[in-house]
Amino acid sequence: MKKERIIIIGSGIAGSLAALRLMQDYDVTIITKGTKQESNSMLAQGGVAAAITKDDSPKKHFRDTFQAGCYHNKPLAVCELTTYGPIVIQKLIKEGMTFDQQNGEFLLGLEGAHQMPRILHAGGDQTGKVLTTFIQNQLTAVQWREQEMAIQIIKQDHQAVGVCCLDSNNQLHNYYGEHIILATGGLGQLFPVTTNAKTISGDGLALALNAGATLSDMEFIQFHPTLLFIDGHCHGLISEAVRGEGAKLIRENGTAIMEGVHPLLDLAPRDIVSATLANEIAQGELIFLEITAVKNFESRFPGISASLDNHQVPFRKTKRIPVHPGAHFLMGGVRTDLHGKTNIKGLYAIGEVANTGVHGANRLASNSLLETLVFGEKVAAYIQANPAKKRNQSVTPAPTKHLLAHPLPDKQQLQEKIGIALGITRTEEKLTEFLHWTNHFEQANGTCEEAEISNMLLVAKLIATSALKRTESLGAHRILEGVTK
Ligand SMILES: Cc1cc2nc3c(=O)[nH]c(=O)nc-3n(C[C@H](O)[C@H](O)[C@H](O)COP(=O)(O)OP(=O)(O)OC[C@H]3O[C@@H](n4cnc5c(N)ncnc54)[C@H](O)[C@@H]3O)c2cc1C
Repeated sequence: MKKERIIIIGSGIAGSLAALRLMQDYDVTIITKGTKQESNSMLAQGGVAAAITKDDSPKKHFRDTFQAGCYHNKPLAVCELTTYGPIVIQKLIKEGMTFDQQNGEFLLGLEGAHQMPRILHAGGDQTGKVLTTFIQNQLTAVQWREQEMAIQIIKQDHQAVGVCCLDSNNQLHNYYGEHIILATGGLGQLFPVTTNAKTISGDGLALALNAGATLSDMEFIQFHPTLLFIDGHCHGLISEAVRGEGAKLIRENGTAIMEGVHPLLDLAPRDIVSATLANEIAQGELIFLEITAVKNFESRFPGISASLDNHQVPFRKTKRIPVHPGAHFLMGGVRTDLHGKTNIKGLYAIGEVANTGVHGANRLASNSLLETLVFGEKVAAYIQANPAKKRNQSVTPAPTKHLLAHPLPDKQQLQEKIGIALGITRTEEKLTEFLHWTNHFEQANGTCEEAEISNMLLVAKLIATSALKRTESLGAHRILEGVTK
């Protein structure tokens, strides 16, 4: 008997783990926009949060997650994340994944808003790369479609039945399956300053929206306080784990920035630290991470040290790293249940593209890798327990290319507009102005670039609309109430 077909869009940890768990019993294809190594998962530095020690517990992890999320989280989803998380981690360890240890004990990092050290890491500060590679190296029975961009979910009788893709020569390809899993990550590239990989520009959110899926909590975008900042440009992330090891945010004159702002000082929730830094920058300050207190900086953070060397930052001498906040993580996304199911039959969403409700209004540091693992496992378990009817190869026609009535904006111009209107602090006037500006453009998908810009526009409009509806600040959504200018 022929196997059921599964199409996974995205090759980060969520998509790769789902593929690993499904590949023996199903015909699995992974479609990915760049190479299989291009994802935010590969860039993750700090680690994975999980309550794995005797003095920690899922209950404590639940409490921290809930508090960071401003109690906007869904309790059942947080419970699933924090109780199933350690089980999923132990399973990976049994399969051969190695997290950093000393004398037989896991070395656990401390990050912002965690009440205790519970961050497992690998390769020092290369957790994402080690974990993604560990999973992908086992993907011996999947078909890869690299350098193909999914541009449309194909539907038949209100069900998702396939995916239409554009390759790098702008040729269309259709893939059909009984189960379509979106694992396309977040949307950092909508913004001019971001930690995210080049391919992470909100495509999966636009695909889901155009297919009729429900999206929620789109106004909640986390801005990371510390991106490496040189000559007006950002060059990747300086992990929060560096502050966890004692680094402090300072002004150029050496004074500490977070003193008196929050009881957790430099490890306060990210929205508070980012907004404080943005305020300092607006007043003309240059911001630095002062690393004198970090023991063995180079061996604990080999990836960051190499990046600093590549960019000729004299951190050994000055003990300072120049930093700036930037777009990092989307808390909202395609609404799913606890199995990754969306409101469209046959369509699932896992990882950062999904909104299960685990993060609420603000994500607790290092909970997103855990989310990719937990829901990568859970979607696979659900599909295995619920066989679908095998369909014949669909005859649904490929989507037609749109003719442009109006030109699309230039990508950089769009990013700049998004940065101004949808950044760390928003106002009603800027949001409304942005929405008016977007009315000049239409969707197009003739080329990968057009499809990407169209997706960015669509997703940005949804963020602006959601942000306007939430008239009070909550978590990562900061709106200056009563301000119209
Ligand atoms: C610099 C950085 C550091 C981070 N550090 C941490 C950390 O220490 N701990 C933590 O918990 N979290 C961290 N995060 C967040 C975390 O890495 C991500 O939330 C998580 O990896 C998302 O995994 P994912 O599988 O959902 O998506 P991703 O890993 O982002 O993968 C998405 C995939 O989808 C593909 N794709 C996108 N659009 C399309 C399309 N149209 N067609 C085909 N393919 C497409 C992409 O190319 C990519 O392969 C970090 C993020 C960044 C950017």
